Amino acid sequence: MNTVLQLKQNRPLLHSQSSEAVTDGDGVRINRSVARKALHTFDPFLLLDEIASDDTADYIGGFPEHPHRGFETVTYMLEGRMRHRDHLGNEGLLESGSVQWMTAGRGVLHSEMPEQHEGRMHGFQLWINLPAAEKMSPPNYREYDAQQIPVLNISDHSSIKVIAGTVALNGQNIQGPVAEVSTQPDYFDINLAANESLNLPLASHKQVLVYVYQGAITIHSDQDSDAGTLLSQQLGMLGAGEQISMSTTENSRLLLLAGNPLNEPVVNWGPFVMNTREEIEQAISDYRNGTLVD
Ligand code: FE
Repeated sequence: MNTVLQLKQNRPLLHSQSSEAVTDGDGVRINRSVARKALHTFDPFLLLDEIASDDTADYIGGFPEHPHRGFETVTYMLEGRMRHRDHLGNEGLLESGSVQWMTAGRGVLHSEMPEQHEGRMHGFQLWINLPAAEKMSPPNYREYDAQQIPVLNISDHSSIKVIAGTVALNGQNIQGPVAEVSTQPDYFDINLAANESLNLPLASHKQVLVYVYQGAITIHSDQDSDAGTLLSQQLGMLGAGEQISMSTTENSRLLLLAGNPLNEPVVNWGPFVMNTREEIEQAISDYRNGTLVD
């Protein structure tokens, strides 16, 4: 009798799209990914913005005071300094390698402003939806500096930073600092050197997205003919399977995002993401009346 090998099924690359150049805040230039029109598509992820510029004019305007309700924002800085202030009097400086995980819940009024007048600014903001039962929860912040984010070395030149979730690889289990989030997100920043490959197991029920921000990554399905390549500033959505299999021919960097879909209706208006139109109207009226926040 032949021995049956239990091979994990690779998740194929289902869909890819280039990020869109937009401006937001006070004239900040952004590469925007993940859908804004069909918000269900990448459930539970709503939006991914990348700021990457050496030109002060592209970021100096920052994001003056604005509201959020109904979801979480995750800010991850690679280079540069951003100061955060909110209506509760919280204040924090996001520096290279640090992460802020903000649960807006029922309402936050805040600003996110650059604290530098020159040099490179490179960072990401991800929006993750909250389940209906948590959309009106009190706001919450978690901040982590670079030293609090564990790094798993894959080889001499390749590594995975584990911001949220757990990486299980080569007999090692590395857990990121962010826990107790309903959508159980995995947020990995992966640095893959030229001519290296990576097979990473991921829970089969999760939505999996890949955003390449340097180089290019090939995603391998079980049929080699189905391999798909993601270039820099492209987002890929992966199909069903138990692991992601990727390789590269050049030094590449990417974000890998995975999370439990909520499978709930999504209605949004600007910085509010709720389940019904009535809840959006309520959020707008609360904002105008000054009762969005306590
Ligand atoms: Fe914001």
